[in-house]
Amino acid sequence: MDANVLLEGIKQLKWHEQQTLYAELRGILYPEEKDVNVLTPELREVRFPHKVRCPHCKAMKVKKHGIYRGRQRYLCLSKRCGRSFNDHTGSPISGTHHPDKWVQYLKLMAQSKSLPATALALDIHISTAFKWRHKVLNALRQLEKDHLGGIVEADETYFLESKKGKHKHRLTNPRKHGGKAKQRGLSNQQVAALIAIDRDGAIVSQIVGRGNTSYVEIDKAIGEHIIPGSILCTDAARNYEAFAKRRKIRHERLNPKYERVRGLYHIQHVNAYHSGLKHWVRDFKGISTKYLDNYLAWFRFFQIHKNKELHAMKKQFLYEAFKSLRIA
Ligand SMILES: [Zn+2]
Repeated sequence: MDANVLLEGIKQLKWHEQQTLYAELRGILYPEEKDVNVLTPELREVRFPHKVRCPHCKAMKVKKHGIYRGRQRYLCLSKRCGRSFNDHTGSPISGTHHPDKWVQYLKLMAQSKSLPATALALDIHISTAFKWRHKVLNALRQLEKDHLGGIVEADETYFLESKKGKHKHRLTNPRKHGGKAKQRGLSNQQVAALIAIDRDGAIVSQIVGRGNTSYVEIDKAIGEHIIPGSILCTDAARNYEAFAKRRKIRHERLNPKYERVRGLYHIQHVNAYHSGLKHWVRDFKGISTKYLDNYLAWFRFFQIHKNKELHAMKKQFLYEAFKSLRIA
């Protein structure tokens, strides 16, 4: 077969078909990518940017201590600790039964695949798929929050309280997905997620409470993260006014009924973020409130890395997870 003819044919394909083809080709050319051990040197650098340190006691004095299952082991030389560890200790991929399936697993996570689809594709139990998902997401959540500067848009969006989770591995939710709250308006059945986003794309995203959000809750979520001299843009809600006053932040309030945009000031980025988030969450068919912060971290990850292609994104999950293990 003529490679040029083939190339011309590939150019005719749709973008997502080219992506699939590209992923297949990578698998043929770089089969070792499938094994997470191959990534270890990179992950070690991410985790220990200066020097390998003991994850148990933070000691600097450690020595190499043989290789086990293809991984470098270290021994902590602190007399009080003396424990051993490897580059993966404490990470989501440590101590799991199928280390060979992790890279593939992360690829499916980068595609927001459901737990049943993931379990089926990798031939793992659905509870394993669930555990791995939250190991990764817990790590993403550990990362320090972004600092927000310049024009900062902030607003809450609400999720109906869900106690799903006792039967977390069930494939269907007995309650109707996304059922309606029994009370009108904001009740304690509504869980508030606060999203703050600046024009450089820095994002803070977290659950702040139930029902109406107080300025104290806003302060707790973003107070320390807004750089002095920033301008806060919100809708007309009074809670932000009180927060801005307390923090001495310049505040531009917009009442969407009368004025959506005033010069550079608007909250359209945060509104777009909310609708993207809601749309994405819908595919998971009912998320337990208990795990909502994890899903917020996942969606935030997608927003920050949205321009990366699939194979870079799956690696990025590991980078972020290993970054979260850095010892300050
Ligand atoms: Zn130690």
